[in-house]
Amino acid sequence: MLARFDDIAGHDRSLRVLRRSLTSGRMHHSFVFHGPDAVGKRTVAMTLAAALNCTRTGGLGDAAGAPHVSDDACGLCNSCQKVDKGIHPDVVYLTLERTVIPIDAIRQLRQEAAYRPYEGRWRVFIIDPADRLSADAQNALLKTLEEPSSCSCIILITSRLMHLLPTTRSRCQMLPFGSLPVELLAARLAQRHDMAAPDAARAARLAGGRYGAALSLDLPAHDATRAELLEVLGRLSEPGPRAHVLEDVEAFGEDAEEIASRLTLLAGLVRDMMVLSAGAPASALIHQDSAGDLARLADRFTTRLDAIQDRVRLAASDLERNVNRKLLVETLMFDIGSGAAPA
Ligand SMILES: [Zn+2]
Repeated sequence: MLARFDDIAGHDRSLRVLRRSLTSGRMHHSFVFHGPDAVGKRTVAMTLAAALNCTRTGGLGDAAGAPHVSDDACGLCNSCQKVDKGIHPDVVYLTLERTVIPIDAIRQLRQEAAYRPYEGRWRVFIIDPADRLSADAQNALLKTLEEPSSCSCIILITSRLMHLLPTTRSRCQMLPFGSLPVELLAARLAQRHDMAAPDAARAARLAGGRYGAALSLDLPAHDATRAELLEVLGRLSEPGPRAHVLEDVEAFGEDAEEIASRLTLLAGLVRDMMVLSAGAPASALIHQDSAGDLARLADRFTTRLDAIQDRVRLAASDLERNVNRKLLVETLMFDIGSGAAPA
């Protein structure tokens, strides 16, 4: 079911801007939605696409610029439902598994953005993630961003704003998105997604307040991986031969996404150890239910926890380049091991 603006929690400033522009009849034609992954940027883009074309609340007459009678989508009309199902002919969602969006796709978008809408009032193009546009592709898009047709709207979604050229950014209205307060997210998860309160609280905490991340979290799978990582950390915290490291490397798998998610989890565990060794109570932890294990580990690593944290971050950023993943995890393991207190 399509989320209406009324249903969306957080992002207050950005939603205010969008809702105001719907009813004022002065809609921007190009936006950059930026902020962390999985906080709801795509959801808001879809809602905007629906609101622009909604047949119940949309503009009077068929002029794209006419003010809307409401600042939200209805979520129920034929047009809203088509947007929700991804079959509205005027709403194009451009995303690619490949690392770079080919320039041909942008040339085609440029042509299409000049057409009149097929059945709605607005043609909406959502590029997600827009940081996969090469510099050439962004340059190809500039003219369309600068002189959009009166009934087209382009939304660039990114969690890596620095990958967009200054020229691209300057032609778009920039709208920030962020995570929700953990308590608010936990309440929403319980109310709207039928999660038991303790699970909702844990998912919200683990996801760091990111709505989409909390929804896609598989708690049992997460717990199994965490148990594995705690064991690996336990072995690394012991003084002595490091023969087990090669086996521990296997636990990370070979898939880049899999490794990335394990590194994120690992960073959270190290963060919690730092929190504990700073004397904070267990309630300040992300992994409150592993407080005992983490406290024991924190005692073993003590002096080098911040260095380990930096090291895990470095591994995560190295992973984004095409490095030898096995070697990356291997050196990370040895480095973490060398941070253990001597026997
Ligand atoms: Zn509608």
